[in-house]
Amino acid sequence: MKYYDKLIFELSKPGRQGWSLPENKFGRGLEELPEALCRKTPTGLPEVSEPDVVRHYTNLSQMNFGVDTGFYPLGSCTMKYNPKVNEDVAALPGFTGLHPLQKGVDGAREVISSLEKSLSAITGMAAFTFAPCAGAHGELTGLMVMRSYHIGRGDLGRTKIIVPDSAHGTNPASAAVCGLEVVTVKSKPDGLVDVEDLKPLLGSDIAGIMMTNPNTLGLFEKDIKEIAELVHGCGGLLYYDGANMNPLLGVVRPGDMGFDIMHLNLHKTFSTPHGGGGPGSGPVGVAAHLAHILPTLRVSGFHGNFGVMLRAYAYILMLGKQNVALSGKYATISANYIKESLKDCYKLPIGRVCKHEFVFDGLIDDGSREGVEGATTLDVAKRLLDFGFHAPTIYFPLLFHQALMIEPTETESLETIDAFIEVMRKIAAEAARDPSLLKSAPHCAPIRRPDETTAARQPILKYSDICA
Ligand SMILES: *Cc1c(COP(=O)(O)O)cnc(C)c1O
Repeated sequence: MKYYDKLIFELSKPGRQGWSLPENKFGRGLEELPEALCRKTPTGLPEVSEPDVVRHYTNLSQMNFGVDTGFYPLGSCTMKYNPKVNEDVAALPGFTGLHPLQKGVDGAREVISSLEKSLSAITGMAAFTFAPCAGAHGELTGLMVMRSYHIGRGDLGRTKIIVPDSAHGTNPASAAVCGLEVVTVKSKPDGLVDVEDLKPLLGSDIAGIMMTNPNTLGLFEKDIKEIAELVHGCGGLLYYDGANMNPLLGVVRPGDMGFDIMHLNLHKTFSTPHGGGGPGSGPVGVAAHLAHILPTLRVSGFHGNFGVMLRAYAYILMLGKQNVALSGKYATISANYIKESLKDCYKLPIGRVCKHEFVFDGLIDDGSREGVEGATTLDVAKRLLDFGFHAPTIYFPLLFHQALMIEPTETESLETIDAFIEVMRKIAAEAARDPSLLKSAPHCAPIRRPDETTAARQPILKYSDICA
């Protein structure tokens, strides 16, 4: 164990202090505060020097993996380059000092309306609300628009929503929270929505359909025009889950595909650091015939997460129209390059051209490689950490048993992507030769294989609990 692996409490020495205060009108430092203001019992905080505090936090920060420490090919999450200049823009005192009830905030309003114009141009929607603070929050908001639309026309029987079996888990969850009954439409073996399975589901009880395009397998739903006609034909609306808009930037617009309502994940597609659950922004866009409903919705305090909007707007301005369009193509090329480079080692259940991400179904066991049988997707994911790469998304989507979902994004260099491919091939070779190397991985991470449920549900976060 390294010295600084010790807990900060173990480094504590009574009386050691990491601060000094200058002389002021109250005297020198805290010991001269009026008696009545001082606490009666000590706080129990560790007593350490400033370097110990700095090392404590710096070392803690190194124990986790982040997109600033290495390649992070997490499918369905878009962990990409977040330009540091965005942070400077979001930290400008003129923005951070604002209060939402303040008068004279025209600059901030202009940022929001300029961002709305850019997003409308990118998506083909007529208007956006920025109130929702995450993708799932946007879904709920968008579905509320859908319900208001039907109820507003006196059409009260539309209580069901169609969701493909490949959908992101938040889709059926948001629909349920919105009080809609979820009806599942099946995918065909090629991964696309089965139009023949859809047809009999359509009727006067259908509020609409929720779709992701490209879908959660990274495939473009090429029948979308026909699906839009069918759903509109029965009086329903089309909701677009735009959390995966990346590969379509500048290539095709949800509005032109026939979608009426959508959300974007600014924190994924337009670059905000979003590990650990926040912050996010899931603006909801609607076609012109629904724009009157947006202002009546109250889904968060004031205007939503303004800091994320600033970062998104800075990102869009920095790229410019031409490069926004290129980024979609790069996201697609990167994913296809990895897919083609690894498909002789990893099972590729759907071989079509993908968009920004794709799914392997574990290692290929072609019989000639002894022991591959034993190495699972979890083992591959754990072993990757030893080589300095974060794991892809694993065991999602649920359509495959050993799913390994890879999204390189448009912002990684060819060298990084090649290095990842090389390591993935190396791991496949190890699996054939000596699967125990994978089974016992990671060998170089601060912790190895916690029980993931206990670690998430009953984490030990207090020093006293460790001692207990
Ligand atoms: C990430 C994601 C969501 C949810 O977004 P959050 O901001 O995490 O709530 C919804 N749909 C898809 C397709 C996603 O990838």
